[in-house]
Amino acid sequence: MDPSHQQIYLDYNATSPLSLAVADRLPELASRFFANPSSPHPLGRGTRKMIEQATTDLSRFLHVAPNQIIYTSGATESIQTVISSFLSPDTPSRSIALPRTEHPAVLSAARMFEPGGAVLHWIKVGPDGLVELDHLKELLRQRPDLVSFCAANNETGVLAPVQQICTLCHDAGVPVHVDATQWVGRLPWPQMPDGNGPDFVSFSGHKFGALKGCGALIVSPRMTLNPLIPGGGQQYGARGGTLNTTGIVSMGLVAASLIENPYPADTVRNVRDTMEDQLLEKIPEAVIHARTAPRLPNTSSVAIPGRDAEEMVHQLARQGISISTGSACSTGKLSPSHVLLAMGVPTDLIRSTIRISLGPLSSSMEVDCLLKAL
Ligand code: PLP
Repeated sequence: MDPSHQQIYLDYNATSPLSLAVADRLPELASRFFANPSSPHPLGRGTRKMIEQATTDLSRFLHVAPNQIIYTSGATESIQTVISSFLSPDTPSRSIALPRTEHPAVLSAARMFEPGGAVLHWIKVGPDGLVELDHLKELLRQRPDLVSFCAANNETGVLAPVQQICTLCHDAGVPVHVDATQWVGRLPWPQMPDGNGPDFVSFSGHKFGALKGCGALIVSPRMTLNPLIPGGGQQYGARGGTLNTTGIVSMGLVAASLIENPYPADTVRNVRDTMEDQLLEKIPEAVIHARTAPRLPNTSSVAIPGRDAEEMVHQLARQGISISTGSACSTGKLSPSHVLLAMGVPTDLIRSTIRISLGPLSSSMEVDCLLKAL
């Protein structure tokens, strides 16, 4: 590839570039706030203050109390912490209800406890990728120990009715974990009435402009967890290990900047919808998965029948355009997307499906280049 060729990045669901709110402060953060935040000396106190400010900003951003936030290395660890806490062999009864459309971070965390006797109940999803609420109600009668679902699907962008699912689960006395990794930073996290929100929420910093290797788990005050990493008892004993100061502060800086200047959801949706209209005009046989379902404003999962998705991704990459075949984690694997399979999409159409995920600054010009190249 010609390095002077301008790059067009349309793979924001895999990761997003560093927010300017972080990039501008990074050298200072790395050089001035290096001390261990648990240390009692002035340098340690300085670092601790930065973390406290980040926690305040994140708690305002997500409408939770500061002491509900547990910092982790990212969504994968947050998810693993919750699921292990409910399904590990030392817990008395072990069952979880979840849709098959979950991210592999959730699926593999749940499946690893199956050989030890944990029971997985699969919640049906419709052809639009939405959880079938009647089936969830049926499963809730079996009183699973936990329900876990994704707020916004990473491949299709389909949004779950978070509040409605939480209410159904709580009415049945079942705690809920929400994987909000693709939602946080793109849509406002809903302010839910006391006791009605999710019991656990997982997310990663790098999906919304913070550094990689940091994330958080929000735990409701009525819940306790077995730590996955007890370590030195940091973070109320919920997660050991020296805090990742730069990562945590980067999440706080992005949260503060998004409180001031919210993610431009309407603009991004406009660019995405226009792109989909134009694509269907040019290629009428193209299929946009879950187009009628509520979706993230930035995500488009598009099948172009007769074309091979991997080949399209590589050809576009040669022209400086970065998109994906689906979840970043499954790229490179030849198995068809489990998300689209669960929605009943035929395998040949899945193999022709690419994922285009826009960012706040993605322009119509960039999208035009993509359409021309396609
Ligand atoms: N959940 C969802 C919906 C995701 O999209 C991802 C990453 O793509 C994850 C969880 C895992 O996030 P991370 O790799 O940052 O831990």
